[in-house]
Amino acid sequence: MQLLSLVIPCYNEEAVIDETIKRLKTFCSERNDLDVELILVDDGSRDRTRMLLKSYASDDTRIKVIVFARNFGHQIAVTAGIDAARGDAVVLIDADLQDPPEVIHKMIAKWREGYDVIYGTRAVRIGESAFKQFSARFFYRFLNKLSDIPIPLDTGDFRLMSRDVVDTLKAMPENDRFVRGMVSWVGFKQTALPYTRQERFAGESKYPLKKMLRFANDGILSFSTKPLQISISLGLLSAALAFAGIIYALLVRIFTYNWVEGWAGIMIAVLFLGGIQLISVGILGEYIGRIYNEVKKRPLYVVEEYVGFNSEDLKMSR
Ligand code: UDP
Ligand code: MG
Repeated sequence: MQLLSLVIPCYNEEAVIDETIKRLKTFCSERNDLDVELILVDDGSRDRTRMLLKSYASDDTRIKVIVFARNFGHQIAVTAGIDAARGDAVVLIDADLQDPPEVIHKMIAKWREGYDVIYGTRAVRIGESAFKQFSARFFYRFLNKLSDIPIPLDTGDFRLMSRDVVDTLKAMPENDRFVRGMVSWVGFKQTALPYTRQERFAGESKYPLKKMLRFANDGILSFSTKPLQISISLGLLSAALAFAGIIYALLVRIFTYNWVEGWAGIMIAVLFLGGIQLISVGILGEYIGRIYNEVKKRPLYVVEEYVGFNSEDLKMSR
């Protein structure tokens, strides 16, 4: 029988865990054609999440838990789950039930048709703030303009991936991980599955503005070098403006009895150029910081404890 792995990252999710496990168990009982394993990753939660997860794992052999030594972030938690999954297909799903488990049935049907990646596209979003909806819409469109490879619009990490795709992902060691982009990069047969993104079942979003911005930054910098080209264009633009200024000043001096005077022109030129230079150096710095991160060659995450895995399987992970 084929095995399906569900990977569920959890960070301070004590308010939703019980319901999530219940819904996922219902999902499992609806599939008697597949074995299912649930891999829950505790991303350094500071509430009762860890304790709850471990007690579920001790009651049910299908439930496995990876406990991180600290909070490493959503994308890294997903990566650890993928690394430990043994399934013929792996599904990524959030812990807060915003992605309804029932949609996985449709993903499995598509997988059986021969698709390697079936990603959930948020056709409708329920219960998210206007700001979140607007910023997300804008982000995916902006990212797509910049990115060298097309990344599907309005698509989160909720998706099913075949073993081929998972093995390719596991061979990609990069530190700054933007999983949805990496999956697009891999290729194979991919297709979208529109679904209605539900309201968070309970608790608060674990993506405050700061984390959201870092995530957006990661997406753009990992999938594009266009910001560097943009800084060149800005430099060229300011040089062109300065050149026009020079010509103008000369013409005024030669052909009239006036000359360009005053400090305003100087200040504007100095500030404009200084601004462009700082921005360009900053963009350059972002990329250099990433290179620095990569060359340190640190492991992506530190696991404090694996619960419910057998040691043979773990040798296969990263
Ligand atoms: N998450 C995580 N580590 C973090 C932040 C979030 O593992 O540092 C998990 C979280 O528990 C949830 C998923 O990532 O399962 C998505 O987070 P959330 O629902 O808070 O984000 P939103 O849906 O608001 O974008
Ligand atoms: Mg959520």
